Order: sequence, then C-alpha cells, then structure tokens
Amino acid sequence: MRLTILGSGTNIHPARAASGYLVRTDQTILLDFGPRTLSNLLKTGVNRHRITHILFSHYHADHFSDFITYFFDAMIFTKYQGGTRPPLTVIGPRGTKKFFRALFATLPGFTHAPFAVHFKEVADRAFTIGKTTVIPRTVTHTENLHCLGYRIEYGGKALAYSGDSQYCDSLVRLCGDTDLAVLDCSFPASRPSPVHLHAGQCGQVAREAGVGQLVLSHFYPITDRYNVREQAGEAFDGTIVVGRDLMSIKL
Ligand SMILES: [Zn+2]
Ligand SMILES: [Zn+2]
Repeated sequence: MRLTILGSGTNIHPARAASGYLVRTDQTILLDFGPRTLSNLLKTGVNRHRITHILFSHYHADHFSDFITYFFDAMIFTKYQGGTRPPLTVIGPRGTKKFFRALFATLPGFTHAPFAVHFKEVADRAFTIGKTTVIPRTVTHTENLHCLGYRIEYGGKALAYSGDSQYCDSLVRLCGDTDLAVLDCSFPASRPSPVHLHAGQCGQVAREAGVGQLVLSHFYPITDRYNVREQAGEAFDGTIVVGRDLMSIKL
C-alpha cells in the first residue's frame, strides 16, 4: 500500500493544496478532492482516467471542489477525444446522493457522461473494493453534518484518514493499531478550533490508538508558523511526519 499526499493544506493556502490523498493498493483510490489537488494528481503520473473510486469525507469545499474539474475533463476525454474509462463510483457520507443529484442536474452536461457513474452513501460499515477493505467511521466535525473518516486495509497493512474531525472516541477507534494515521492538524495547540483537532490532540489520538506512524496534515496557513511536530510529540513518542504535498509513504 502506498499513500501520496495530494494536498496538505486548506482552501486558501500559499504553499499547499487543500485536502486530497491518493492511496494505491490493488486499487487506485482517491480520498477527498480539494482545490489544487487535481494538478498534484497529474504530477504523480497516475492515469487519472483509470481512477474508479473517489471517497469523500464530507463536502466542505476544501475537500471537494476539484471533483468538478476532474469530472468535466473526464466527459471531454470520453465524448470528444475518443477516450474510454471504467465506471466511476463516488462514495461519501449521508447526503451524498442528494448533493450529487443537485450538482449534476445543475452543471451543464453532467448527467450525460458516456460512462457509468455510481453514488454510494456509507456509514460505519466495512466494504471491499477488489482486495482492499474500506471501513468508514462517523467522526464529529461541525454540527449537523455527517462526516466520515476512513480506514483502508490491504496486504496486512492499515491506514486511517481522519477527514476533518474534533477529538472523539470514534476517531480513536478508527485509528486503532493502524500502521499510519493521517490526522487533521488544522491548528497549533495554542490556537485551537472547536471543530478541528490541534497538533497536541493529534498526538493524543495517535497515542491512545497505538498508531505506528502519525502524519500531520490539513494545515491552515497560521499553523505553519508553529512546531507542530514538537506539540504532537508531547503526547506521542512514535514517528511523526509533518505532511507536505506530493510526499509519498510506502506501508
Ligand atoms: Zn470540514
Ligand atoms: Zn477541511
């Protein structure tokens, strides 16, 4: 299994794309698709037209907006450039079907793609894509919004991605004994937010869950001014990686 960070920042950040991760197992899976992550996906050399599954944690724009550009490009490729591509399955939290129904009905041409598109809502039940197991888990982010973290298991290795989350028991369970956990480190411990983890809490989750390697990501611009590795390290004595765009980690 290989993880490549496509974006380690937020909506507007001078040096980082917003949320997006490429996970390669026997499948090529995208976790979230925020602004500027599509151009980083192209830089990885992965054939974007072979991607079959995109998993969304929630639909704040910093996790989603490049999907529109991606899908429009897929339509041009298959309609006018003689290209073919496999069916695309979009997976996300409660509200996914309603959200995409409205979006596709509004954006010109989106309902007439010449390839199959499937939408699937998931919550707290494992499923498989080929030989890859995906375990979604509801996490607490903002009020009245169903947000998911994902755990991906393949070849005896496990990876967890928090999506956007506050500290919650569910997140600790999601990360339990994973080889690697990518956590929402939006803010430094000294500037906490009510709806995101801060660096110290990332360390706390990693320790309580017994993760092998903690990857800090989803940085707001202000957070880059602080030593988040040190802050997370106060609670967690395992390996801590400060995420950056196009960083690739083999598990
Ligand atoms: Zn969010
Ligand atoms: Zn976010």
